[in-house]
Formats: sequence, C-alpha cells, structure tokens
Amino acid sequence: MATAEVIVRGAGIIGLSVAWELRRLGASVLVVDPDGAGSGASGGIVGALAPHVPEGWNAKKQFQFESLDMAGGFWSEVSEVSGMSPGYVRAGRVQPIADGAAEKLARARGSGAEELWGGRYNWEITDDPGPFAPLSPSGLWVRDDLSAHIHPRRAVAALAAALDVRGVPVVSAAEPGDAEVWATGWRGLVSLTNALGWPVGDGVKGQAALLLPKRPPGLSAQIFTGSLHVIPHLDGTVAVGSTTERDWTAPVSADATVAAELAAEAEELVPALRGAEIIGRWAGVRPRAAGRAPLLDRHPLREGVWIANGGFKIGFGMAPKIGRVVAEAVLGLGDEIPNSFRMTPWEA
Ligand SMILES: Cc1cc2nc3c(=O)[nH]c(=O)nc-3n(C[C@H](O)[C@H](O)[C@H](O)COP(=O)(O)OP(=O)(O)OC[C@H]3O[C@@H](n4cnc5c(N)ncnc54)[C@H](O)[C@@H]3O)c2cc1C
Repeated sequence: MATAEVIVRGAGIIGLSVAWELRRLGASVLVVDPDGAGSGASGGIVGALAPHVPEGWNAKKQFQFESLDMAGGFWSEVSEVSGMSPGYVRAGRVQPIADGAAEKLARARGSGAEELWGGRYNWEITDDPGPFAPLSPSGLWVRDDLSAHIHPRRAVAALAAALDVRGVPVVSAAEPGDAEVWATGWRGLVSLTNALGWPVGDGVKGQAALLLPKRPPGLSAQIFTGSLHVIPHLDGTVAVGSTTERDWTAPVSADATVAAELAAEAEELVPALRGAEIIGRWAGVRPRAAGRAPLLDRHPLREGVWIANGGFKIGFGMAPKIGRVVAEAVLGLGDEIPNSFRMTPWEA
C-alpha cells in the first residue's frame, strides 16, 4: 500500500484543505478515503461563506473572518491548478430588515463590522437590494460585501483535482503513517466519543433543495432570511437550505416533501424564485463538535495523530484557515490554533 510523510484520513473539505496546505509547505501527503472525495457532508449544494455577527466577537469569529478573507486567494489558486471552477464568487449577501428594532440592531452591527473587519469590507443598510432579493417588511435590507458563495460539490472536486496535479492523490487505503490527520467528519466525532468516553461531538443532518428559476439570477448576492440560505450559483441554479435535524436514522436520504417545503418557503420570501422548478435535493450529516467550535488538536490517545473536525455549519468558510493552521502545527512550523478549538477547555 502507498504511504507518505503525512497521511490525511477523510477527503471532505477539511481533510483536502489540510492536505493542500501540507503539500504547499513541502510535505509528501496522501489522502485516504474509502468512499472518495466529497462523499460526506462536503458533497453538497449550499455553500454560504458568510461572516458571524459582530456582537460577542471571539476567537472563533475572528478565525472565521480571517478564513473568509483568505478564501478568494485559496479558491483562485485551486481553480488555476485544477482547471476546474469551484463556483466561488464574493458577491455579498442581502438580508431583510423586519422592523424598527431590527433596523437599530442592523445599524449597530454595521458599526461593529466596520471596526472588526478593519474597514476592508462593508456592511450597509440599503433600500435598493437589486432584483434578486427577499421581501422586506421595512423596505430596508442589510447588504455586506464580505460574504461569498461556492458550489461545495464542485469545490471539493476541484480541490481533489488540484491536489492530484500537485502529486497528492486520494486513495482508498494506506499504511498507517508516523504523522496522520484525521478529518473524518461526524463518524470521526462519534468514534472519538466512544474511544474517550466523553462527548466529543456528533452528527447533525441537513437537507437542501436545488431550484432552477424561470429567469437565471445572474451574478447576485446570496440571501439569508433568518431561517433560509438562498445561494444563486454561477450556473444559474439556486440552492435553498437547510434543515437542522438532530434525530435522524438515514444519513443521506433526501426527502421530496422536505425539498418541496424548502422551495415553497423560498418562493414565498423571494419573488424571483416564484415558479422555479425543483431539480435536485441533497442530504448530509454535519460534524458538530460538542464545544461548537472546530476541533483542532492532537489525538489524546494516539501519538502522531491530529484531529481536524467539527466544521458544523460553516466548514467551507473555515477550511482555508483550518488547512493553514493544522498543516503548520503538524509540521512543527507554528501553532496558531485558538485554545477554544482544543479538546481540553470543554473536556471537563
Ligand atoms: C445541508 C447542509 C448545508 C450546509 N451548508 C453549508 C454552508 O452553506 N456553508 C458552509 O460553510 N458549510 C455548510 N455545511 C457544512 C459543511 O458541509 C461541513 O462543515 C463540511 O462539509 C465538513 O467537512 P468535513 O471534511 O469535516 O467532513 P465530511 O465532508 O463529512 O468529510 C469526512 C470524510 O471522511 C471520510 N471518512 C470517514 N471515516 C473515515 C475513515 N475511517 N478513514 C478515512 N476516511 C473516512 C468520509 O467518507 C468523508 O468523505 C452544510 C452542511 C449540510 C449537511
């Protein structure tokens, strides 16, 4: 069986991003996934890369901001090397403002964003959100230009192809390595919970629908309505999601009724989607670490093994920076992992 200096187990967005950065730093790397790249939560269709709100700013929010800031460069290199489009575009996000109280909060968030985003991105209140926008009872919307979106399934395929070009294949099995990174999604969190005897994390299922609007939205901002993400992909399809299901038995079964409900909610809120056809549906299980932040740390029981997991609902947004800090830590080149991402603070 093949081997390398570092074995990355799990070919989702997290494992592939770590492998990408390990290779960039000069390591020989193999990615191992018996089910192939994008077979887990990363093979989906939604792909919102949107910032956290400014209040309660903490290490996780700062980390995600830095990762969103890195994303343009990250995905443009992947696209160049692979010759494939990940569907990345920084087209911003619009959100409806319900009433006066929401407007006050939105304005306060604008001031917070200005400070926390270093003046490099805008958060504004507008009465002109463009043609692809949700209804707004107040006639006002928040628009930010830090948010981007991506086509997750295509992004993972492009990243796996780019890794292959750089000599990092995704294989179905490999000998154990002296250094390993386990990025094995929700299954990995359940295995760790069983191995350690305390709740490390679990899986939260989500479902989404893919729509074909009567008129393609073109290059448009994504929409967040408070409950629904609406992502206008560059290919003219629009993804709508997602459900949050803690009790589930069938991890990848996507229900036609759920897709119809998501589409109906989107059509009600976004006039440009009225009469859209449902052309697909998808389900996956998000890896949710019990501490809610990603889990990036050495395996407490296995010498040489690192864990990179727990991206939960924002794994794609976090991936560029997770890849960078985990690769540096594994190779002993630095340690920028926030303390709140390690196992110990919430272990007890
Ligand atoms: C419906 C839905 C909507 C979402 N929307 C967004 C969004 O808008 N924006 C966003 O940023 N994120 C979103 N997410 C979350 C995002 O998809 C996840 O955070 C991300 O995919 C997690 O990536 P991962 O690599 O950790 O896990 P996964 O993609 O699940 O990858 C884990 C991989 O490990 C493999 N594996 C398991 N066990 C082993 C083993 N023993 N050896 C080797 N390989 C193994 C699996 O086959 C799998 O391929 C969404 C998720 C869902 C389900």
